[in-house]
Amino acid sequence: MKSFQKKLEEYADLTIKVALNIQEGQKLRISADIENADFVELVTRKAYEAGAKKVYTDFNDPIIQRITYEKAPEEGLVEISDWQVNMFEEIVDEGGAFLKVYAPDPDFLEGIDPERIALNRRAIGKALNRYKKAQTNGDISWCLLSVPTKKWAAKVFPDLGTDMQIETLWDKIFYTSRINTDDPVTSWKKHLRDLQEKANHLNDKNISVLHYKAPGTNLTIGLADDHLWKTAQFTTKKGIQFLPNLPTEEVFTMPHKDKINGIVTSTKPLNYDGNLIENFSLTFENGKVIDCRAEKGEEHLKSILDIDDGTRSLGEVALVPHDSLISNLNLIFFNTLFDENASCHIALGNALSLNIKDAEKYSQEELAEMGFNESIGHIDFMIGSSNLDIDGETRDGKSIPIFRNGGWAF
Ligand code: ZN
Repeated sequence: MKSFQKKLEEYADLTIKVALNIQEGQKLRISADIENADFVELVTRKAYEAGAKKVYTDFNDPIIQRITYEKAPEEGLVEISDWQVNMFEEIVDEGGAFLKVYAPDPDFLEGIDPERIALNRRAIGKALNRYKKAQTNGDISWCLLSVPTKKWAAKVFPDLGTDMQIETLWDKIFYTSRINTDDPVTSWKKHLRDLQEKANHLNDKNISVLHYKAPGTNLTIGLADDHLWKTAQFTTKKGIQFLPNLPTEEVFTMPHKDKINGIVTSTKPLNYDGNLIENFSLTFENGKVIDCRAEKGEEHLKSILDIDDGTRSLGEVALVPHDSLISNLNLIFFNTLFDENASCHIALGNALSLNIKDAEKYSQEELAEMGFNESIGHIDFMIGSSNLDIDGETRDGKSIPIFRNGGWAF
């Protein structure tokens, strides 16, 4: 058995060497909750050891963020200073790397007016548009991963004592990040190869439409023209391979924004910026949500749909077998990074250009014509279960089973 310290070192190594794949002379920007400073210190040391030129750190305090939502005047909520934008764009221009340690308290924005949150999100989305685009068109390497915080751990394991909560959540993170294996780097190489095989198979089949059937779900998703099935192992234009999410279990592609019809029901709660949305369903017609219901948090679901035109349609469709490392833990993490990798999911909002073959050849208008959905939001939600069947319809009209009872059918 490895000691906790050994696992922590390996997690930090995996972050720097595999997920971000830091290169000699590269800049790295880390953003994290102040509670995770210990982990950031460790990662910073590893980054310099791997050859990083400079590591910038931006700590946030969720309490200050909450106070801002409560107290700031509207003009304060929408003001994003140029120097904040420049900080991102300078690192983008130099082909740097970005690490986000993502560990939100699932309830931290409870009771805040969703309109004020949306106002702030829209302003940030607009200001950081170039940085967001750089994330998906291969200009930068980036990674989103999680480290326990007290409130998050308490939400996942309410019945354990405080110390045990953090320890148990670490244990689950190590387990799902394959740190518990003898050689995590080799385990990841094999896992990514397995996922790539699934993506290759789906690409070979030339599927144009997916049919989803499950209790509360009867959904048809047309796929974008020239779409590509991908795994979450990306490559920058300079050829640096990186993992945008740690852990990752998904194979995903681009839906056609105008060809989504039917009803879909969530199978896990969605934690949207500290607000829980539970047991919800969306009805689509010609690619747009025309009706939504939620047992809890319906107002937050509506505020997502109102972010812009694009959050009324889909930008991603992802397949994750119900029998997988994260899913088998049978836990709700209240953290989209983990929950989306435990379940088939789809995302409202922006599509990823890497899901179109040779996307750089096309103008934004041409991409839209092919089915690309543009938005400042990208909100994944979970629709997988052991009851989910998915059939694909190939371009030449054949129907092929893709998922049966929540698992791969091939
Ligand atoms: Zn996804």
